[in-house]
Amino acid sequence: MTDSRATALDAADPLAAYREQFIRTDEVVAYLDGNSLGRPTKASAARLSDFVANSWGARLIRGWDESWYEMPLTVGDRIGEVALGAASGQVFIGDSTTVILYKLIRAALDARPERSEIVVDTDNFPTDRFILQGIAAERGKKLTWISPDSDAGVTADHVAAVAGPDTALVVLSHVAYRSGYLADAPRITQIAHDAGALVLWDLCHSVGSVPVELDEWGVDLAAGCTYKYLNGGPGSPAFGYVRAEHQATFRQPIQGWMGTAEPFVMGPEYEPHDGIRRFLSGTPPVIGMLAIQDMLELIADAGMNAIRDKSERLTAFVLELIDEKLVPRGVAVSSPRDPARRGSHVTIDHPSFAEVNARLWAQGIIPDFRRPHGLRLGLSPLTTSFEEVRLGVDAISAELP
Ligand SMILES: *Cc1c(COP(=O)(O)O)cnc(C)c1O
Repeated sequence: MTDSRATALDAADPLAAYREQFIRTDEVVAYLDGNSLGRPTKASAARLSDFVANSWGARLIRGWDESWYEMPLTVGDRIGEVALGAASGQVFIGDSTTVILYKLIRAALDARPERSEIVVDTDNFPTDRFILQGIAAERGKKLTWISPDSDAGVTADHVAAVAGPDTALVVLSHVAYRSGYLADAPRITQIAHDAGALVLWDLCHSVGSVPVELDEWGVDLAAGCTYKYLNGGPGSPAFGYVRAEHQATFRQPIQGWMGTAEPFVMGPEYEPHDGIRRFLSGTPPVIGMLAIQDMLELIADAGMNAIRDKSERLTAFVLELIDEKLVPRGVAVSSPRDPARRGSHVTIDHPSFAEVNARLWAQGIIPDFRRPHGLRLGLSPLTTSFEEVRLGVDAISAELP
């Protein structure tokens, strides 16, 4: 059974042809979790095997001088240009998001030593909260918690109510991992700055799906994943952004040789590089940076505004179907209704969803189950079709008790 609305939306979709650029298998009927792990591009399959044969296999140790050594900054610059609104020299790729958050938060606190508080919200991703709890204990700082509604997120008013002369840093997610709430990053950044605080945005769920303008918004620091909407593959390394004007003074805590001005001098003391390279620590994850590059080229080709446009149409369509087929049967929508305040995923709740999800996965319908009883439907603009959305909602409807 098809749905004429889905067919018409796919036929009118200017980005529909990009779906052909990704690897897919018949067994997966609807992939609704591209926000946890993006599909691989066909170009990445070729790039990875070519790398083993012709770069690693043929160039061996010479590859470091020829390009690998610079990749954390060259690929970082490309992420900045295509997806972050960041001029070159401000983005690096290195560790997991968790470790980059640790480095950047420590650097920010040391840059505001007279201030004692860090603002964060109770719905932020666990690793963000845990890293902050650890650093607060380590550095004798206080966490100031914002508690947003669970189906919404942190607003400018929330931040204005707590940011003050003691605030060193505000750490928030641009798109909330559960509700999908899209925070007003430019306004919140301004409010934090008016209080004399620094801002760190976690972009894990926005990079590659929502336009980001870090330079224009005046953002101090940012970090984000590359295995979600940047399709870098499982465990591909995260990126960090440090505004140019802060680089000479901010010091990160994991002082490794790769962050020094001249690593191969092998000198007696740590002398940090004076630019973005100082935020690196150890040998860069070269293989992990390969696939990101192919997705960045597709994003550059499609354009972030067209991607955002499709994302809004996908989330509007899934909500239309949810309202029609699931809400009358007791399913609750736990995401914002206003498309301007929504990222590229929608979360719904029902007490049966743990069992429903297991049955969906067995049929090749793949959403993301979130405890206690949420289903997160991640709609990745270049890979998800409207027909997949329709199949997903119909399958949930069929499995509801
Ligand atoms: C996915 C995600 C992370 C993941 O961090 P890792 O170090 O890659 O495990 C962190 N923060 C947010 C907001 C996320 O959505």
